Amino acid sequence: MSNTQRLKNDFNFKKMTVPLVVMLAFLTLGFVMWRSSGAIMALFFFGYIGISVGIGLGLYAALPKKKKPLGRKLSLFLVGSFLVGFAAIYGGENMQIEGMFFGLLSGVFQAAVVHYLIAKVFGPMLFGRIWCGWACWTVMILDLLPFQRPAGRLSGRWGWFRYLHFILSLGLVAAAWYGFGFREGAMGQAALVWYIVGNLFYYLIGIALAYALKDNRAFCKYICPVTVPLKITSRFALLKIGGEAEKCNDCQACVKMCPMDIRVPEYILNNQRVLSTECSLCQTCITVCAKDALKLSFGFDLGGKDLLRERAPKLPAEAVAAD
Ligand code: SF4
Ligand code: SF4
Ligand code: SF4
Repeated sequence: MSNTQRLKNDFNFKKMTVPLVVMLAFLTLGFVMWRSSGAIMALFFFGYIGISVGIGLGLYAALPKKKKPLGRKLSLFLVGSFLVGFAAIYGGENMQIEGMFFGLLSGVFQAAVVHYLIAKVFGPMLFGRIWCGWACWTVMILDLLPFQRPAGRLSGRWGWFRYLHFILSLGLVAAAWYGFGFREGAMGQAALVWYIVGNLFYYLIGIALAYALKDNRAFCKYICPVTVPLKITSRFALLKIGGEAEKCNDCQACVKMCPMDIRVPEYILNNQRVLSTECSLCQTCITVCAKDALKLSFGFDLGGKDLLRERAPKLPAEAVAAD
């Protein structure tokens, strides 16, 4: 069978539902914000993001299995680099979490506040942590590192460091604002420097951790403060990974490749969707499932059945084997 024929066979318009819904949601948001604020830049901004993620998701759906990750990487690059460049060149704004705190304190409804409200609060209620899989500028770089197959989670409560980081960031802003009268953390030259230095710091720690733990996503699992709002709001996400229990043979291929260590078959064999708030909707599990037991699904899961099923902690022997 030729490549073109194979591509045609793989193509299915139903698979385009999610890309189209995401694209339309962003375009609608941009349109509403343009009409209500009068700023046509809002339409350009959200339209660009929606179209970029939509193209990435669409490519992912249309390409043959081995090539699917290209769609996600393209989306990460298109959105991540745009947001970094847009904030720096157009706005001179601090898009780090501290910039958002400064924005809230100063009452400036700047890009970081809008970004957090959409990408980290309301967006995840619809599309889960799609931001983490398809748009984050930190992971845009970290996903280029060689440790695609994580070696498992550290035992212990290291994930709680993310909450501590969140509190430290908030405390730092409060101390600067109330203690030192520093008010320029949201917009302007100082804000931009904070944003650039903060991002470089994240990249540095993320790369060092990835090499130390042989895990591209170690930063997400143990350090990133943004996970705090993301985990709360994505609990109610309409879009999640679903599956068919009768097709799943519990081969564990999806668990081994899941960058967030989620024990996918435990949900699927229980006739549940993947409820873990660690899921970044990267769809790697769908790609590696030889039984085609997994797919994206829209629906409600409000029953409080949120069990965080992650891979067993990394044992010393496994760590050596993974080396
Ligand atoms: S957890 Fe943080 S660093 Fe990781 S993808 Fe999500 S927002 Fe980006
Ligand atoms: S890869 Fe597919 S068949 Fe294997 S455990 Fe995961 S969902 Fe089940
Ligand atoms: S469960 Fe699937 S979609 Fe979610 S993070 Fe793991 S591999 Fe990605």
